[in-house]
Amino acid sequence: MIPTYSAPIMEKQRLINLLASYGIRNSVLSAFDIIPREAFLENRLGESAYEDRALPIGEGQTVSQPSLVAEMIQALKLQGHEKILEIGTGSGFQTAILSRLVKQIYTVERIKKLADQAKIRLKDLNVKNVTFVMGDGSKGLAKHAPYDAVIVGAAFSKVPKPLVEQLKVGSSLVMPVGAKDWQEVTLYKKVGKGFQETLRMTPAHFVPLIGKYAWPQERLD
Ligand code: SAM
Repeated sequence: MIPTYSAPIMEKQRLINLLASYGIRNSVLSAFDIIPREAFLENRLGESAYEDRALPIGEGQTVSQPSLVAEMIQALKLQGHEKILEIGTGSGFQTAILSRLVKQIYTVERIKKLADQAKIRLKDLNVKNVTFVMGDGSKGLAKHAPYDAVIVGAAFSKVPKPLVEQLKVGSSLVMPVGAKDWQEVTLYKKVGKGFQETLRMTPAHFVPLIGKYAWPQERLD
């Protein structure tokens, strides 16, 4: 029998091998194997879905580089029982990965079009443990706090205060922190009422976190 050549499967395997070579393991690696990144992109970008790079998702936003997403998620050391807060739903790709790794996700997005699209995509993938919220994620989501982990997919010069307050003591938050055009993805642990920086993971270039406790929109225009 002539073997059927399937480019996407080979490209996906190449990405999985790359993530494994960066030290991504176990359930995080499996989640990347299960979730189809092409389902979160416009058709014309489908063939780039398994390249290790950020790609445009419309509205001036991007879906982050897979290796960065994987490293940020792995740093949270998720066990499966967690209730977590994600700021910046974007395409919904990272949300879908997280849905395989925790019990419940609250995800906040400020751009309605992106939030609506992500909701449809996750419904199509039969993901049931995500609550979508439209709004300013720099304020966190006090209604469902405290969280077992927080992951922020957009950058600011420091961690917004409400996100510190809404995290459980002993739990972790990961976020790109720094200037508008250059940041370091940083892991923090809540200690008492404050934060301890535990690891500067990697340099990055994320889109800005825009909101009351982040960059004001007018300073970016
Ligand atoms: N992880 C996402 C994915 O898998 O597609 C990509 C996130 S994208 C790099 C950052 C997102 O954060 C954008 O969709 C942007 O609109 C959103 N964002 C920026 N400021 C925000 C805020 N204050 N609250 C909620 N979302 C915000």
